Amino acid sequence: MAVSKLLPEVEKFLSSAPLKGIVGGKDVAGSAGETMKTIDPGNGKTLAEFCCLSPEDVDRAVGAAAHAFKKSGWATMPANERGALLHRLADAVAKHKPIIGQIEALDAGKIHAHALGDVQNFIDTLRYFTDMALHVEHRTTLAVSGHDARTVRHAWGPCGFIFPWNFPFLLIGWGVSPALAAGNTVVIKPAEDTPLSAIYLGQLAREIGIPDGVINVIPGTGSGAGAALTKHPGLKHMSFTGSPEVGRLVGQACGHNLVPVKLELGGKGAAVVFEDVDVAGTAQSLVNAITFHSGQVCCDATRWIVHKNIYKDFIDECKSRLRSVHVGYQMDDASGMGPVVNAKQRQRVLGYLEKGQAQGAEAVLAGGAAEVAGHDGFYVKPALMAGTLDNVAAREEIFGPVAYVAQFGSEDEAVSMANDTDYGLANSVWTTDLSRANRVAESMVAGNSWINAHTVFPRGVPYGGVNKSGVGGGVLSIETLLDYYRTQSVVRPL
Ligand code: NAD
Repeated sequence: MAVSKLLPEVEKFLSSAPLKGIVGGKDVAGSAGETMKTIDPGNGKTLAEFCCLSPEDVDRAVGAAAHAFKKSGWATMPANERGALLHRLADAVAKHKPIIGQIEALDAGKIHAHALGDVQNFIDTLRYFTDMALHVEHRTTLAVSGHDARTVRHAWGPCGFIFPWNFPFLLIGWGVSPALAAGNTVVIKPAEDTPLSAIYLGQLAREIGIPDGVINVIPGTGSGAGAALTKHPGLKHMSFTGSPEVGRLVGQACGHNLVPVKLELGGKGAAVVFEDVDVAGTAQSLVNAITFHSGQVCCDATRWIVHKNIYKDFIDECKSRLRSVHVGYQMDDASGMGPVVNAKQRQRVLGYLEKGQAQGAEAVLAGGAAEVAGHDGFYVKPALMAGTLDNVAAREEIFGPVAYVAQFGSEDEAVSMANDTDYGLANSVWTTDLSRANRVAESMVAGNSWINAHTVFPRGVPYGGVNKSGVGGGVLSIETLLDYYRTQSVVRPL
């Protein structure tokens, strides 16, 4: 067992509490004087104290972002100059990757190697959109008879971002990179469980010379800072990643102010497994997916819809593989799966195990709370339930290492089972028959269909949801960058 030793820079950052928000380039303690504590989910101990920004502070942050948009030159500088600054930010994140990786692993309860992967993902995403913005045509001539006509792209102005706790740093990269590359200014509200990497990023951005007010960070509660941000009339664009319940509130607030909004929400993805697959290999891939970050992944395959001819073998393979996942402290190299984010989330997972069984699901692998010696954190064991898909555990998002398996006979039946959900984020189909794979992939109603893989995120492929999983276009593609420009048409009759 090798537990990573904390870097002195991480110790210093955590102890410089209470950590403050960053508004207009200044550290801001919060006008109401309130603070919160963030804990290490792996041992339940306080990691750091941070300032909780109030609605008045949010107003200042949006004001600072509006001022920077108009006065700092950020929006009007040539894209290559802005690009040089954003690459400098990516360089700084790369230089500080070991520090941010530890901060992220500790704050989110993420396996340390995965947290480092998230930081690298942030760097690559920031560079991707920065370079893409150099090639965006800002004036497009329109061939319209009798008129001199064109469309022009402008940045929107101050853009709000609210993020969840499961991929705090990676999602900031996915969200704000296109907005910044397009010349917008941003106000970032991290989740109250995981504010640390956002605060660190705000400090880094200031150090490397991103103009004051371009990147503002407002730690605080959802109902306080979060709600105030969504209701702010000074915002020109809003992006929210989180639960459908809060997404609806964000949509309402933005609708009231007529502010365009992107909502990236939850999921209840299916994996449809046909009888011609390599059973052991497919079982391993799905076990890897459901245990990655303790199943706290929006696009996870949580409903495994398996052909009846391989159903029993598949379950046996999954059961033994899930049982052998090593649950442990996230900073321990030997751990395969860390804790869930907090006590409430652990209770949520345990609650669904109970409710699912009460409604008739079979506990193929019972799961439940897990003990990790020396670490009094929020651990759960992987679980596998089986039954019909009308069960509460097969319909609602659990957000834990819990898979639900059901069997099908025909292709049509499999597709209709996969589509029998309020969500529509990501599904996968597993088969060696490529015609069937393509047919099923296109028939499943969701933003994303993967073939013989689950959780696939190459930059350039749009990732977003439909139905209860999201509206507004998604992330990670050229369209995402274009979403962060408003379009204007200019026309002169000849
Ligand atoms: P959540 O909706 O509870 O919170 C998300 C954020 O919203 C937090 O920062 C929170 O402080 C803030 N918030 C809470 N109440 C608010 C309010 N009234 N007004 C404004 N902001 C408010 O979600 P969570 O529990 O942090 O994250 C888990 C959810 O996120 C899951 O449903 C998961 O599927 C989803 N998610 C989706 C994606 C995606 O890309 N589609 C990615 C990651 C997570």
